[in-house]
Amino acid sequence: MSVESIFPRLEALLPKVQKPIQYVGGELNSTVKEWDSADVRWALMYPDAYEVGLPNQGVAILYEILNELPGTLAERTYAVWPDLEKLMRSEGVPQFTVDAHRPVRAFDVLGVSFSTELGYTNMLTALDLAGIPLSAVDRGDDDPIVLAGGHAAFNPEPIADFLDAAVLGDGEQISIAITEVIREWKAEGRPGGRDELLMRLAESGGVYVPKFYDVDYHADGRIKRVAPNRPEVPWRVHKHTVMDLDEWPYPKKPLVPLAETVHERFSVEIFRGCTRGCRFCQAGMITRPVRERSITTIGAMVENGIKQSGFNEVGLLSLSSADHSEIGDVAKGLADRYEGTNTSLSLPSTRVDAFNIDLANEFSRNGRRSGLTFAPEGGSERMRKVINKMVTEEDLIRTVTTAYSQGWRQVKLYFMCGLPTEQDEDVLAIADLAKKVIRAGRETTGSRDIRCTVSIGGFVPKPHTPFQWAAQADHETVDRRLKALRDSLRGDREFGRAVGFRYHDGKPSIVEGLLSRGDRRVGAVIRAVWEDGGRFDGWSEHFSYERWMAAAEKAGVDVDWYTIREREENEVLPWDHLDAGLDREWLWQDWQEAVSGGEVEDCRWTPCYDCGVCPTMGTEIQIGPTGRKLLPLTVV
Ligand code: SF4
Repeated sequence: MSVESIFPRLEALLPKVQKPIQYVGGELNSTVKEWDSADVRWALMYPDAYEVGLPNQGVAILYEILNELPGTLAERTYAVWPDLEKLMRSEGVPQFTVDAHRPVRAFDVLGVSFSTELGYTNMLTALDLAGIPLSAVDRGDDDPIVLAGGHAAFNPEPIADFLDAAVLGDGEQISIAITEVIREWKAEGRPGGRDELLMRLAESGGVYVPKFYDVDYHADGRIKRVAPNRPEVPWRVHKHTVMDLDEWPYPKKPLVPLAETVHERFSVEIFRGCTRGCRFCQAGMITRPVRERSITTIGAMVENGIKQSGFNEVGLLSLSSADHSEIGDVAKGLADRYEGTNTSLSLPSTRVDAFNIDLANEFSRNGRRSGLTFAPEGGSERMRKVINKMVTEEDLIRTVTTAYSQGWRQVKLYFMCGLPTEQDEDVLAIADLAKKVIRAGRETTGSRDIRCTVSIGGFVPKPHTPFQWAAQADHETVDRRLKALRDSLRGDREFGRAVGFRYHDGKPSIVEGLLSRGDRRVGAVIRAVWEDGGRFDGWSEHFSYERWMAAAEKAGVDVDWYTIREREENEVLPWDHLDAGLDREWLWQDWQEAVSGGEVEDCRWTPCYDCGVCPTMGTEIQIGPTGRKLLPLTVV
């Protein structure tokens, strides 16, 4: 039976809302399939506004892969702004997809990709607007399977009550496998209803179905154990790893946004994973091992993507793009290819070394010279050792000196505040570093027209990292240290005006900390916040710390216990039954070494140090150099 578009009803509301264009769909390279041409249908949600969600690579890749699959269709849905939400409620318009404006409840799966935990309340809005019961236990056979993915899904426990399932790791292959399980179950006449479908997914060991696991607690609130409540279900659910990125050269048809978005460029992921071993970095830990895309595939993807989309900027994405074994050839090859055209190149993440200046020069050959960004993360040498970010002050000064000598005038430095073992002087050291950077720039160029912007984020301990046991710094401490740093920078007559300072207060990090390391009991807080009007918590103008604290109190949840409490080695962590491949003992050892000053090298270039991922997941590091070239090129 066909499902009607809700667009005629939506259209009447659009003149009354801000940025109505974000809801109309029809972007270049979007796909609309006949409803009846598919027997498995996915609604893919990025739980933020269109301007943030559209450029998301994860959603874009799955959207294409699923739409290429015979008998399958996928459409996108985003969080609607509160102005439209209000009108949709009063007019009875349900959550819709932007592609064919079909109601989300009509789909078989609602797949939600969480880059951050602050999207949780937006998922509840979407469920509620869609007419899907918020609690998974209240859903019937007509409701979609609500499935979470993305980095936050590595601890989905705080939203376990709202989810039917979660998937860890790379989505390319598992989304196809899930589709086939659903197809088979539907073709058989849906035997056993929703419960059997979820059981078929859970049995595989690759899909986590929270309701098939019970959590027991100690009297003091710690978790006693998490155990399956059905014999067919495995004790641990493992993550998925795509081993050959060249086999999955997506996006092939990049979506071109209709409204303004946060990134407007064609992005190619040049490798996945990172083994540099920064102890705070969840992305680096959970995406191991490193798997490079070959230089030839990168070249072909860029050429095709530009042709298909008309974008005039190419971004080479990864957790640390300069680490690609053939990045020099990639940069030079692309800069040569697009020289004299209006296509510019960008490398979003850069390491602190002189090699990056060469790369930056290649990349800016054909475009604007924007600022260079480096992330020492810790202000003092001691702090950088604790987090295993092996960058010395000499490295940084040498690198920025090279940058200034080659014509760069703006350097941005990124740091974190609230790191484990941090003292006031570690944060104040950021000011010294910034001043030394400015001094180096002035000496090199002989000019006073030199700028350095210091940007600071609050540190949040994340699951599946060595800091998963650490106490988070309370927001008063973070705010006090940031204020002292600001005063030190602003009060400096010689350098104060040359240093820009960007930071957020410490309160949002506490909420992020609660959601990152929370367990199922935190679900009641999320629900209470949402009921109290919590929406778009990742946006400072919508975020309310007071609302979160009031909700926590109402739900009887002690926020300090979840955030600023250090955990013991043997405490059962809410995500211990979810397997990112990392050996728990190795993580603990690395946490101890952080405190004692031990360093870990990158296993790409030094022997394996047994973090556990490769043997557990049956994977291995895949890097070049391949010795191949970007050529032959199509003449542009
Ligand atoms: S198992 Fe060894 S080679 Fe594989 S990611 Fe871990 S440290 Fe590196």
